[in-house]
Formats: sequence, structure tokens, C-alpha cells
Amino acid sequence: MPNQEIIQIHVGQAGVQIASACWELYCLEHGIQPDGTVYPNYHNQREDDTFNSFFNISAVGKAVPRVVMVDLEPTVIDEIRTGCYRQLFRSEGLITGKEDAASNFARGMYSIGPEMIDLAMDRIRKTAEDCCSLQGFLLYRAFGGGTGSGFTALLLEHLCRDYGNRPKLTFSVYPSPRISPVIVEPYNATLTTHNCIEYEDTNFVLDNEAMYDILARNLDVIRPTYTNINRILGQVVSTITASLRFAGAVNVDLQEFQTNLIPYPRIHFPLITYAPFISAEKAYHETLSTAQLTNSCFEPANQMIKCDPRKGKYISCCLFYRGDVAPIDINNAITDIKTKKSILFVNWCPTGFKVGLNYQPPTVVPGGDLARVQRAITMLSNSTAIKEAWTLLLHKFSLMHNKRAFIHHYIGEGMEESEFAEAKENLSCLIQDYQEVEKDS
Ligand code: GDP
Repeated sequence: MPNQEIIQIHVGQAGVQIASACWELYCLEHGIQPDGTVYPNYHNQREDDTFNSFFNISAVGKAVPRVVMVDLEPTVIDEIRTGCYRQLFRSEGLITGKEDAASNFARGMYSIGPEMIDLAMDRIRKTAEDCCSLQGFLLYRAFGGGTGSGFTALLLEHLCRDYGNRPKLTFSVYPSPRISPVIVEPYNATLTTHNCIEYEDTNFVLDNEAMYDILARNLDVIRPTYTNINRILGQVVSTITASLRFAGAVNVDLQEFQTNLIPYPRIHFPLITYAPFISAEKAYHETLSTAQLTNSCFEPANQMIKCDPRKGKYISCCLFYRGDVAPIDINNAITDIKTKKSILFVNWCPTGFKVGLNYQPPTVVPGGDLARVQRAITMLSNSTAIKEAWTLLLHKFSLMHNKRAFIHHYIGEGMEESEFAEAKENLSCLIQDYQEVEKDS
């Protein structure tokens, strides 16, 4: 596989805290110590390791993540600066301001964010200069926060200007359907979707509530914290990106993700499903065959966002297997899925499945909730069922917008009031786009 580098950008509290979980896991997977030292002989034993897509090797032989983290306020990034992994990250890649975005999209996009955008782009440029052949960007943020929604929108606009043809894939924490720590999340989420939709290539949406449920139901974690959730997210992202970091039987790069998943530019919000979500105690008694794992990916309970795939149709599915998986078992599992009447595909996309296979089994974080297993799967599926999540968001947005509630906070930060109506219109169009796609030819 050509060794093309990927730059990861973590924005706002959620983005940065997810970074901690992801990079902890990547270090474990690649034999890298918290100070960046690569364990002796680790990589010589595994010549197929292409971990430098994620890590640059410095002049003194340290592994340095190709990462930029940005937050408009310092607290969360300060934890990284003083924490166990403080020597891993390059200090210039950790960017903080002094004033937070106060859960306000307009502060991230229009008033405070612009003060930091040049610095962020400069650090991204420097990180890109360490790359021989930059493959693209992965961004992590929450839709609901002011920085995650507003600053990310600004950043994506600049990334498109400077790196137009490189894929930009986003992982976004979607406001939870019921529990939400920020009242204006529906505004922020709608405004950021409106502003980013033209600039991002693919956006994977995940909601914390779906993950709370998975942790409570499957992993017996009664009171999950962000750390529990972020570690799960780390494992999922690790499976998706395993083929970018380890050579494997069937690899999928960023461009291929898109070619296979995104039939139209705006229909770019795939669902993520992972299996097995299983604790060490339960794993003891389970077999978890390739067929069982594949079937689990079509169960709503394993999805990282709440919507019912039976109320929509699949357009395409990318299945990323890792570990001890035989290609023949994958073929059989997919053939079986295709016969199931409850799993509907649009009739204009006859093939439907793309497979990635990586022989590297999942690594688990010591003290984490997931069991060590021999094989795992992440499915990325473009399903029209996601319109349910957009419809709920539009409903919540409209409830507040019809009363013009909280709007003055946004206008006070330099946003035009008309942008609310435009964002709402754009979201309605997105829902209609999904309805159109769902119709058979
Ligand atoms: P920002 O820093 O202004 O972008 O604000 P946040 O990142 O805190 O955004 C608020 C949203 O992010 C809410 O929906 C929170 O539930 C969610 N959130 C905050 N921290 C985390 C985290 O560490 N992990 C996850 N999964 N969600 C988070």
C-alpha cells in the first residue's frame, strides 16, 4: 500500500477528549510508549506496519502523531499538556485560546474563532510539510458545542481552500435525542451542518445516548462517563482506520471510502455499527463467528446513532473486518444478509457491499470495558434511515426558532439572523434528498 499520511484534527472539548482515547489506543497498537519511544524491535518484527500514515518519525527516532488539536479555551488541552501523553504530542500542535465559545456557534465561526484560524491553518500546514504524500484529513468534534460547531465550520472552509482535493472526513457527536447538556444544541448542530455540508466529504455522526445504551446494556457500565464513551469510539475509529495503518489482505483508503459510500455529494452521513460490544465476562461464553458479527451490524442496538435502519433503505455498506477472519466466511455472511427480507437495499445500487479485511486483531486498553477478542467488525453504511435523526433535529430547531428564542446571542456575535432560516431550509432539503434517494428507480 502506498504510504500516504493522514492528518487528524481534534476540535473543542469533545474532539480533544476523543483524541486522548484514540491516540492512547494507537500507541498501544503500534508499540509506542507515551513519550513517543517506539518499543525496540516491535516494528522490525512487523514489516507490514504502515503506522507512519498516522505518526511522523522525528530525527531522534520518536513517533510523533500527525495531529492538530484546537480549542478556544485552554482547560481540556491543558490536561493533555500535563498528562501522561504530554511528551507524545508536539506542543505546536496543541492550540488554545483564552475565551471559550460559550456553546455558541456564532462565537466559534464569527467572533472568537477567526482570531485563531490563521494559527490553526499554519500548524496544519507545518504538519502537512512533514508528509510525503498527504492522503487527507480526519476531523473530530461535537455538533452541539460552540467550538465544535462554529470553529469546525470555519476550519473546513479554509481546509477546502488550501487542500481542496484531499478527502476530509469528520466524526461528529450528534446532540443526543433525549439527554442534552446544551439547550441550544439543535441550533448549533443545524448551523454547522448547513455551513459544512459543501466542504466535508463524509461525516460520521454518533450520538452519546446510543453509546450510553450500549455501555449499559452490553457492557454493564451503569453510569458511563465520557471516558467510557470515548474509549468505545476509539476502538471503532481504530477498526475503520486499521487498513490505513496496517497492511492487510484487503485495504481501503480514504478515497475508496467515499467512492463506495457516497452516491451523491450531499448524501454523505453514513451510520457506524460495531461488533462485538462485549465485556470480558460475557466473551468467555460466546463464539462470535464471522456470520454472527456480520449479522449484529444490521441490528439497531449496535449502531452508534439512534435511528431505525428498518425504516429506511441501505444504499451501500462498507464492512471492515479485523483479526482472525477468513474471506470465505465473509462471503457466506454477506450472501446470507442479502437473503434477509428485513434488510432493504435501494434497487438502483445492485452490489451494495465493499469489504476491508485486516488481520491485526483489536487491541484493548487496560481497564477498558471491551473484552479482548479475536475478531471484530465495523460497518459504515449509507442508509436513508438517518433522515430520522435529521427530522428530529429539524423539529427541535423549529420549536425554538418559531419563538425566536436564544437568537440574540447569535446576532450579538455578528451572525445574520437570516442564516437561521437558510440553515433550516438546507436541513429540510437534506431530508427531502434522502426521501428522493430512497425511491426505487
Ligand atoms: P465545544 O468545546 O464548545 O465544542 O463544546 P463540547 O465539545 O463540549 O460540545 C458539547 C457536546 O459535546 C455535548 O453534546 C456533549 O455531550 C458532547 N461532549 C462533550 N465532551 C465529550 C466527550 O468527551 N465525549 C463525547 N462523546 N461527547 C462529549
